[in-house]
Amino acid sequence: METMLQDRRVYELLEKVDRDLALKAQAGGCEHCGGILHRGNYTRKPRGGPAWDSRYSFCCSREGCRKRKTPPSVRFLGRKVYVGVVVVLVSAMMHGLNEGRVKRLRLELEIDRRTLARWREWWIHTFVQGDFWRGERGRFWHAITEEKMPSELVEAFGGWQREGLMKLMKFLSPITTSSCKGVVAM
Ligand SMILES: [Zn+2]
Repeated sequence: METMLQDRRVYELLEKVDRDLALKAQAGGCEHCGGILHRGNYTRKPRGGPAWDSRYSFCCSREGCRKRKTPPSVRFLGRKVYVGVVVVLVSAMMHGLNEGRVKRLRLELEIDRRTLARWREWWIHTFVQGDFWRGERGRFWHAITEEKMPSELVEAFGGWQREGLMKLMKFLSPITTSSCKGVVAM
């Protein structure tokens, strides 16, 4: 799995998916008044991946509305400081047996122990109790042990490989929008 985090192609694909999601969101116009959307990206400084310095977001151009629309993202998992694939894969690895590997990776990516513990809390409590997971868990044909999140999710999608990882990040992307309440905040 360390290889996935070092795979440039993974990051290129994530960028492409985010661009597509952004174009689609913009083409849909303002959800409140149907007005034209202008770019109003958020500044980001994520760790553990490429220097992705902005997250796509739009603002309605109509005076008196100006509502925001932020498309789902496969690069940023909510407001977490690290890029999404790091939060997913490193968290999943914590359930494995090899503590040495986790430690090495943690040091390499400069993730402190408390952050890791927070991610774990987030997966096994906030995430599994959120509306998104409650709505989706039924689609897995074998039960996912929620205490082993996100490890079992990564397994289910084949997320240790490029293609599976992309599918997993797309699956998770709805939780990165504000319409998915209770999950984004951390
Ligand atoms: Zn509007």
